[in-house]
Amino acid sequence: MSSPTPAQEACASGSREQGRVLIVTDNPPSITFTQALEDAGLTVVGTSKSVAALIALRRARPHIIIADEGLQGLTTKELANQLRRAEESAVPFMLVGTREATLERRSAALCAGAFDYFQLPRELSLLVARSSQLVSIRQTVDRLRAEADRDYLTGLLNRRRFRTALGQEVERWRRYRTPCGLVIVDVDHLKHINDTHGHSAGDVVIRHVASALAQMSRDNDTAARLGGEEFALLLAGANAEKAISAAERLRQLVAAEALEGIGRITISLGVATCPAHALNERELYAASDAALYKAKREGRDRVSIAPAISF
Ligand code: GH3
Ligand code: MG
Repeated sequence: MSSPTPAQEACASGSREQGRVLIVTDNPPSITFTQALEDAGLTVVGTSKSVAALIALRRARPHIIIADEGLQGLTTKELANQLRRAEESAVPFMLVGTREATLERRSAALCAGAFDYFQLPRELSLLVARSSQLVSIRQTVDRLRAEADRDYLTGLLNRRRFRTALGQEVERWRRYRTPCGLVIVDVDHLKHINDTHGHSAGDVVIRHVASALAQMSRDNDTAARLGGEEFALLLAGANAEKAISAAERLRQLVAAEALEGIGRITISLGVATCPAHALNERELYAASDAALYKAKREGRDRVSIAPAISF
């Protein structure tokens, strides 16, 4: 293995998780090129031709892309537009080529949306250094985004992320007629628990309920803390029957174990599904919430179902 350049050494020292690089080129990249990236701690997760770049993007989830300047049938502007459309935040890309990196060529690359243009093989070490830098920024953005979606006390998704997921699930119903269920959960008598056992006991209760929600949710489901002692479980692909039985299992799971020094915890749950009980995001939330308050009124520690839509 060739010894790393000073730029590679300087940049590799700050890296955490391995950086993933996708190379978009019509010709196979040189071994020196891929080896230099790997020596800097970056993994080449794929090499694709221009037309296949977007498919590779979804599969390989790269932190950055290095693309040839002269791709067949795809201008730099088109590549930039496609990357912007494919992801919530576009994957940064750089251009490489054998032509000299003149001021004009670099300016054109930046104007088209790339992070710079590098002449290969002459500027390989610069390209590698810039790649490490961009990967590191991208990883920080990913980490901050993941943290911004989480509730600090429980580790569940937060209300902001839940609202996005709710919108996506209802959209899936509109487009593909895939049903979805929403269970809204509220802890019973938490104020009394706080007053009797202290606020930290209340926190233990909240974490206990959160852990039951996490246990109940499958891959495509969303378990969230909406705030205070209120939670939501969004069930992807669930019809009314499945959503009701999931809610009932959740109720039993929470009550199954008495918490040390606190006792048995109960929750109340409201269930509504799209399309049996609601046809849009706002109605689905309102129907579950109204069902939850019915469960409270009828004595707590129970599941209540929203009234079916009558046509
Ligand atoms: P109900 O069965 O009607 O839901 O009664 P409740 O006491 O649970 O409901 P209420 O709305 O009267 O009070 C909610 C309590 O939840 C009061 C509030 O201090 C407590 N709470 C909200 N968030 C937290 C938290 O993060 N930690 C703790 N310990 N308590 C919390
Ligand atoms: Mg409550």
